[in-house]
Amino acid sequence: MAKISINIATGTVQQAEAIVGIDLGTTNSLVAFMHPEDKKPYILKEVDQSTLVPSVVYIGEHGERVIGQAALPYLVSHPERTIKSVKRLMGKAFHDIQESTHFKLIDQGPEKPVGIQVDGSTYNAVEISSWILQELKHRAEHLLKMPVQKCVVTVPAYFNDTQRQATRDAGKLAGLDVLRIVNEPTAASLAYGMGISRDESKLIAVYDLGGGTFDISILQISDGIFEVLSTHGDTHLGGDDFDQLIYRYFLECLELNAAHVDMNRTQQLEALALTAKKHLSSNTQFETEWEGRKLTLDQNTFEQLVQPLIHKTLQSCMQALKDSGKTKDELDEIIMVGGSTRMPVVKKAVSQFFGKTLHDSLNPDEVVALGAAVQADILSGNNKDLLLLDVTPLSLGIETMGGLMDVLIPRNSKVPSKAGRQYTTQRDGQSGIRITVYQGERDQVKDNRKLASFNLEGIPSMPAGLPKVDIQFLVNADGILQVKAKELRSQIEQSIEITPSYGLDDAEVERMLMDSITHAKEDIQQRSLIETKTEAEQMVLFTTNFIRKNSRFLEESEMNATELQIQKLQEVMNGDDKQLIQQEMESLNSLSRPYAERVMDEAVAAALKGKTV
Ligand code: AMP
Repeated sequence: MAKISINIATGTVQQAEAIVGIDLGTTNSLVAFMHPEDKKPYILKEVDQSTLVPSVVYIGEHGERVIGQAALPYLVSHPERTIKSVKRLMGKAFHDIQESTHFKLIDQGPEKPVGIQVDGSTYNAVEISSWILQELKHRAEHLLKMPVQKCVVTVPAYFNDTQRQATRDAGKLAGLDVLRIVNEPTAASLAYGMGISRDESKLIAVYDLGGGTFDISILQISDGIFEVLSTHGDTHLGGDDFDQLIYRYFLECLELNAAHVDMNRTQQLEALALTAKKHLSSNTQFETEWEGRKLTLDQNTFEQLVQPLIHKTLQSCMQALKDSGKTKDELDEIIMVGGSTRMPVVKKAVSQFFGKTLHDSLNPDEVVALGAAVQADILSGNNKDLLLLDVTPLSLGIETMGGLMDVLIPRNSKVPSKAGRQYTTQRDGQSGIRITVYQGERDQVKDNRKLASFNLEGIPSMPAGLPKVDIQFLVNADGILQVKAKELRSQIEQSIEITPSYGLDDAEVERMLMDSITHAKEDIQQRSLIETKTEAEQMVLFTTNFIRKNSRFLEESEMNATELQIQKLQEVMNGDDKQLIQQEMESLNSLSRPYAERVMDEAVAAALKGKTV
């Protein structure tokens, strides 16, 4: 429930507790708030009317921090001390990172977050992001004149568990309780009022072209439930690439070679390129003078220049549609997000591609934060009609015998999601089971990504196969996985929340999916070989135990022949010939069947005489 209080100084009614919506962006971050009176979301503006807090942090010689707008000049003067695009590093280890940065990154180990080193001090992405969040919190408190402790934060739809958890941790570190992590395309739809009424059913495409990243998401809204059907994109495609193309075009016009232009002149020309791009968003022609020479760029030339970039985004749109199993005709709405969707060439291409008019009336930089505020309002109890739902980007499962992946929650399952299965022990008297959790689409766990592992200890001594170990997976609404294991006969139990310290980016998720398609046939063969080997192992174990326990009922020749056949089977089990393993298993079976039956008969006869065997 929202709490209401009265400000005795002004006599106005206000919410005692503000829940804000935060767009923690790669380039810029924003904070928004739902006005309690007119029920509309607003971006919180500073006195100078600025809304964007650049996601940039400068760390000074004495460890002092400068955040946001004031940190921008340091990008040029002290690039090695100025951290930008930290969102790209969230939830990642050093080996996950491909791009180069102006600041120093250090390897803190394969399961540790990448280190950001400035002078002798090492920071991480969660810490730096928490400073940006703190700045937003202070801005909100200052403007709303009340404490802000709760928020909703948005993340790209392709963010995995680790990246979502890292975002949540950054909030905690900033003194904020992150009530919900919401997908950016979901927030954008909320900002346009979609899904607010319960009976609405819609298929939406959200095209998000920012400064350095591009995403397309296909969302389904029905009965107040938002479901991300598919996402696609490029984490290194955005407005900056458009700027670069114009910069190179200007160099060409000026007959200059980039290698011979000094840093200062490069920066001047790059700034001119940015101005030209923005100018062309509301004019047909750009003209200026630089070092006494005329520079021009018209809309048509610009369109031709950037065509390859736009084409790339449309290819992603095509792929996302294909992945969602929907067609362009089925789409109801197209929403434009991100500063770069201001370019008329982009709008024209996207509208033509989908054959629809676009939703672009809201400020594209602000849409996501506005939607986060709408979600915050829902959580504060002011709008009970909505329930948000997302899907898992990759399958989640555990390792079973032979290194096989047993999927409990398949890819694209709606979250919150719950699944359970029962397992048992392989050895007599086994007192513990190791549970290792993986994420990915391949059949063998070695090809997937390990998330965590833990032991269930203290299983009372029982014959193999008797304990009943129930494993439950629970993915909560933020996409965070909790695994519980319980031995049902003894009731001992273990549970962990998966908070791994490094993660995958969307390119990796995509690579893993592509891999699973490419290797599908090979995987099936491999799985069947592993299953045969596991069966053979069980057979060896069972037969060895059987002849040991019942030696007194067996002829010496039977014992010797069985031991020899076990050896033969073990030899072929080391190879990869499934048929050969099956042949040797069949031979062992034929050899042991007669005496097994005899032993059983004798056991029955003995039992009838009142004796036990
Ligand atoms: P975002 O990451 O969503 O904040 O988007 C920032 C990107 O939008 C940068 O590449 C800006 O250059 C670009 N941008 C901002 N305003 C305009 C405009 N009027 N025309 C074209 N691009 C713009």
